[in-house]
Amino acid sequence: MTREGGCLCGAVRFTCEGDPLNVRVCHCRNCQKAMGSPFFARALYEQRAITVKGDTGRYPSSDHLDRVFCKQCGTRLFSWRRNGTAAGVALATFDDRNAFAPTEHIWVSEKIAWVRLDDGLPQYPEGPI
Ligand SMILES: [Zn+2]
Repeated sequence: MTREGGCLCGAVRFTCEGDPLNVRVCHCRNCQKAMGSPFFARALYEQRAITVKGDTGRYPSSDHLDRVFCKQCGTRLFSWRRNGTAAGVALATFDDRNAFAPTEHIWVSEKIAWVRLDDGLPQYPEGPI
């Protein structure tokens, strides 16, 4: 299965081959700030499964993670592990926004108070064990 997506302006396009490793919503403070959003919903893929076309910028949001965005429109597309293993792809940037549904909430210990989780999915205070 190949999934396609891109940024708001269309300057950056990507494809993801195969199935994601997992699909999670992260509520950590780092994701909140980096995405300018209450949480970050992403599909985690092996980096070798992702092909990116277009001019992207990146910012190291922590020791191990870069945030990758379109230089033109600023859409935040990926959380890219610098160790070369995997990358999170923002669910909202897939052409089919309903391609994936998350299966877990992680870092709920840092969740914004008004965000109410009633989807019945497992919740982890930090990363899953
Ligand atoms: Zn763009």
